[in-house]
Amino acid sequence: MIVKKVIIYNIMNIEKSKQLFEEAKKIIPGGVNSPVRAFKSVGGDPLFISRGSTSKLYDVDGNEYIDYIGSWGPHLFGHNPPFIKEALLNSIENGTSFGAPNETEVKIANLIASLVPSVEMVRMVNSGTEAAMSAIRAARGFTGRDKFIKFEGCYHGHADYFLIKAGSGALTLGVPTSPGVTKGNASDTLLADYNDIDSVKKIISANKGEIAAIIIEPIAGNMGVVAAKDDFIKELRSICDEENVVLIFDEVMSGFRVAAGGAQELMKIKPDLTVFGKIIGGGLPVGAFGGKREIMERIAPSGPVYQAGTLSGNPLAMAAGYAALNFIKDNPDVYKVLEEKSSYLEKGFKENIRSLGINYAINRVGSMMCMFFTEEPVDDFKSAVKSDTVLYGKYFHEMLKQGIYLAPAQFEALFVSTAHSKDDLDKTIKAHYESLRAIKV
Ligand SMILES: *Cc1c(COP(=O)(O)O)cnc(C)c1O
Repeated sequence: MIVKKVIIYNIMNIEKSKQLFEEAKKIIPGGVNSPVRAFKSVGGDPLFISRGSTSKLYDVDGNEYIDYIGSWGPHLFGHNPPFIKEALLNSIENGTSFGAPNETEVKIANLIASLVPSVEMVRMVNSGTEAAMSAIRAARGFTGRDKFIKFEGCYHGHADYFLIKAGSGALTLGVPTSPGVTKGNASDTLLADYNDIDSVKKIISANKGEIAAIIIEPIAGNMGVVAAKDDFIKELRSICDEENVVLIFDEVMSGFRVAAGGAQELMKIKPDLTVFGKIIGGGLPVGAFGGKREIMERIAPSGPVYQAGTLSGNPLAMAAGYAALNFIKDNPDVYKVLEEKSSYLEKGFKENIRSLGINYAINRVGSMMCMFFTEEPVDDFKSAVKSDTVLYGKYFHEMLKQGIYLAPAQFEALFVSTAHSKDDLDKTIKAHYESLRAIKV
């Protein structure tokens, strides 16, 4: 008897998630508190999560997933690692917020400065958005200039002047990407092309003496994963030196992820200011910005550039963040372990696509990785957006059915954590193969 082999996936029961999403949509815009969680770009309904532990997430219907979102970056050690949980339990005994200085703030500031040598002083805030916004203000206050350069495809949070898309060419005034962002706000944001130093030079010479800062993700993680090229980032540094422009590295994602000292350690470049978030909070809402003493001393109350926060330096958040960074300091082999796991996954994915006769671009720096649904190499925004996002959506759902939780959008990073086991990685590689076959790439 010949039995035709049919692959049958466990079709998940996600009834409770569906119900909760219906309820949520009535009271929360789009049913979520941050847009990309809503599965809009892949279709379908988001899962409501009830629990996270090590490499796994559990939804309200009891399904288990191997998680590669890691709360969008913070979970370098997987979900709920014992040393962070313990730090939080100890801290909560003493209260939740004081609105006054606490000792952990000083300890974490010193620890950040010791791990990231370009940071001479640091201010803690509550999110990456807040940190990026404050770094731009610091650069403007320091230079007395208004304009700044950002790169197409880089994300720096949702402050008005970051939500700008290219107009007709990089030299024209920015056009707001979102309603609610004014033309006035957009006009001080100048857009350059990632990994294209000439686009930067053109803007600089057309705006002589008017540019306060250049802000960049040294490893872009919000257009998939795209690293800045070596000569490009070196030239950026020297242009900023020549023109007295403040170079800001947005390391909200890459900071403490690709190395203890972030992308700047790998690239051997010292930015003037660095923006942090995600891992720095150990899973709690934390951001930070820091850098050169002469710039940071301009921040209130030591200087006139105003910046404040009721819950900034919150003791619980500092306890979690300090536990995370301290673990990194005490275990420098964390990045070796992450590299081994991540390169194993990458190798598996590459073997899969080769055996299927396709050649999708896979970009990876340490434990940040992205497979683009395009066969052309991806090294900037324009090449990234050549990806077939409809196909990504199908792939995403096939992976989900097999218990692999990836970001519900093509242009996001896949994060490997120290908690991913060899078994997790093998299951993921197998699911990757089956998923690509199922969608008939
Ligand atoms: C996530 C992210 C931000 C924004 O951080 P939030 O905490 O979400 O406000 C800024 N920059 C980069 C590079 C990010 O990845």
